[in-house]
Amino acid sequence: MAIEKIDREKCTGCGICVDACPMDVLRLGKESGKAEIRYVKDCVCCYNCEEDCPPGAVYVDPRRVVQVPPAW
Ligand code: SF4
Ligand code: SF4
Repeated sequence: MAIEKIDREKCTGCGICVDACPMDVLRLGKESGKAEIRYVKDCVCCYNCEEDCPPGAVYVDPRRVVQVPPAW
C-alpha cells in the first residue's frame, strides 16, 4: 500500500505535496508541471501529501495500517 494516484486534471502544480513528503517520493514533472509519483517504493503512507493538497488531487491507499514490529 502506498500513494496510488495523482489526478492530473485536478493538480495545479503548486508543489506543496513535493515539499510535504518526508520520503522524497514526489516530483514536479519538468514538462507536465504536475506532481508525479517518482519513487513509490519509498512511500510510508504518512498521508501528508493527501492532506496538504489544496484541490484534493492525491489519493493514498487507505488500507495501509501502521506497521509494528512483532513482539518477541
Ligand atoms: S503518503 Fe507520505 S510518504 Fe507517501 S508520497 Fe505521500 S507524503 Fe510521501
Ligand atoms: S499538492 Fe496537489 S495540486 Fe499541488 S502539486 Fe501536489 S498534487 Fe498537485
